[in-house]
Amino acid sequence: MNIVIFGPPGAGKGTQSNFLVNKYDLYQLSTGELLRYEINNKTPLGSEISSIINSGRLVSDEIVGKLIKEYISNKIYKNRLIFDGYPRNLNQAKNLENLLRKYDQKIDMVLKLSVSLETVCRRILERKTLEKRADDNERIAIKRYETYEKNIKPVTDFYNQSNLLKVVDGEKSIAQISNEISGLINSIKG
Ligand code: AMP
Repeated sequence: MNIVIFGPPGAGKGTQSNFLVNKYDLYQLSTGELLRYEINNKTPLGSEISSIINSGRLVSDEIVGKLIKEYISNKIYKNRLIFDGYPRNLNQAKNLENLLRKYDQKIDMVLKLSVSLETVCRRILERKTLEKRADDNERIAIKRYETYEKNIKPVTDFYNQSNLLKVVDGEKSIAQISNEISGLINSIKG
């Protein structure tokens, strides 16, 4: 089973992805993390992309496409991937379909955690006191939420057309959301 997970920062994507990884023995493929790894390890790719990432722009489709191909083509991860942070646009969504098809796989479900801006702000402010994340202040949170929702809409619309999109109410408790997601997965596993 391959899953794509969407949700703005603060929607609970990380928590629910961890839940899925443990319950269904999946692997979370976060393109943001892959890119940060390259930067932290000062690889040639890392130095090429660090200014792009730091300014909040998107890295080229070609670069991210190469990174995810490594995983899709690797038997260890076959039918075990949660795509987090990918696809970010329609071109990437189509590239993902092509890559998966090439390696005899498909997307089984697309989850979108839907939360209000108020909830995202509240959670991020709570998180700030717990983890002291430097960038997690309210103004940035609002900007990131709005940008995320605007950019991701064509992509979620695309998956809605093929009936893969499941919107989950991210306002509920962590356990309730996990339960709902499990129910959706069990229904497709049949
Ligand atoms: P994230 O952790 O998903 O918020 O990603 C952090 C940063 O990595 C983004 O702001 C982009 O610069 C870059 N990035 C992550 N995923 C992608 C992607 N699918 N396409 C292009 N850039 C990406």
